[in-house]
Amino acid sequence: MSKQSTRREALVYHAKPQPGKIKIVPTKPYSTQRDLGLAYSPGVAEPCLEIAKNKDNVYKYTAKGNLVAVISNGTAVLGLGNIGPEASKPVMEGKCLLFKIFADIDSIDIELDTTDVEKFIETVKIISPTFGGINLEDIKAPEAFEIERRLKEELDIPVMHDDQHGTAIISAAALLNALKLTGKKMEEVRIVVSGAGAAAVSCTRLYKAFGARDKNIVMLDSKGVIRKDRPNLTGEKLEFATDRPIETLEEAMVDAEVFIGLSKADVLSAEMLLTMAKDPIVFAMSNPNPEIDYDLAIKTRKDIIMATGRSDHPNQVNNVLGFPFIFRGALDVRATKINEAMKMAAVKALAELTEESVPEQVNIAYGLTRLTFGREYIIPKPFDPRLILEIPPAVAKAAMDSGVAKVPILDWDKYKEELWQ
Ligand code: NAP
Ligand code: MG
Repeated sequence: MSKQSTRREALVYHAKPQPGKIKIVPTKPYSTQRDLGLAYSPGVAEPCLEIAKNKDNVYKYTAKGNLVAVISNGTAVLGLGNIGPEASKPVMEGKCLLFKIFADIDSIDIELDTTDVEKFIETVKIISPTFGGINLEDIKAPEAFEIERRLKEELDIPVMHDDQHGTAIISAAALLNALKLTGKKMEEVRIVVSGAGAAAVSCTRLYKAFGARDKNIVMLDSKGVIRKDRPNLTGEKLEFATDRPIETLEEAMVDAEVFIGLSKADVLSAEMLLTMAKDPIVFAMSNPNPEIDYDLAIKTRKDIIMATGRSDHPNQVNNVLGFPFIFRGALDVRATKINEAMKMAAVKALAELTEESVPEQVNIAYGLTRLTFGREYIIPKPFDPRLILEIPPAVAKAAMDSGVAKVPILDWDKYKEELWQ
């Protein structure tokens, strides 16, 4: 399809038959006078009083427990940059659609007209009583780090900045599987990370939680290798600065086993790829165009395991594999946080699911035959019906084990049955 017709199709999709992608529908009867008397005054006073007596009753009598706010200020939207709150709305509505179809979570998009960190935090805190969870989205680094850190600390509902942790979770699962296929160990592999923004930093932190060693990691930003002796290094960049006396990506890539790209299109050349160790693992996730063209990479190294952010190649690192199911698990045990243990549980569950034999309906959904664990299948496909059965229970259990679940699940079979419906 030509670019022009894709553009037209996307605009018509958003405009017709009614503008936007989500709407709100009532969940209770409303056709008689009696129904209305229950839904609103006078009946509505009864749940109000119950909640006034005990705040936890808000979960019993309102939609809070299954309601997530998707909140952005439009400062880092897709690969489009700072396009402002209104222009970010289609993306946020899209996220709400995905929450609904993949995990039956109701969500509402909220676009904030501020770039001020304190105002942003204050606003989210003020509106938080409405929601069971907060998904922060497309907020520029470094502000995004501070906003998420503070909100996690100061609120007692799950808060997750998906651009950081979603990508980290999915790519970590893919990395575990790629290492398994090539017989390599996280503790030993030399990892080059191109990019030092929101996604790169949280991905690298999560790989470290799975055993990657500081001494084996080299991170680069737009100025080149982040070295300890670079003046005025702050916060996140200092955390990943290297002692090695190298400056360029070209130097960093020699004998590297893993390349993680969360930076810009086409920064990795075929020549550099040729200098990597045997069975190179290359996750070129810059969107819409990867750090190295997929076909070029595959042609250059027959022994490569490659993933990208794109749906037209195998191994798409797609956040939709994570956030709907992670929030599902967190909401279902009324977790006060989404902590490291829960994220790591999601990673392991995703990685393990990939090794299981794939249901035929997944092959059909993607027009494929015999999808099996291997170089071209290191992470599940989004339309895999097993995701909703496997990921939320793993996340919920980790929340319980790590002491952040307010309402533990007691009957796992019953819970899985409910997830299936
Ligand atoms: P970000 O916060 O703006 O970070 C971009 C980083 O890339 C910055 O650290 C920047 O350096 C660095 N950079 C720019 N040019 C570079 C170059 N030539 N070589 C090395 N590093 C360079 O953005 P982000 O949210 O982390 O996203 C980064 C990229 O990853 C985007 O393309 C995004 O679409 C993609 N992404 C993909 C997925 C996915 O596949 N699921 C998920 C998230 C993000 P400075 O710090 O010096 O400015
Ligand atoms: Mg995003």
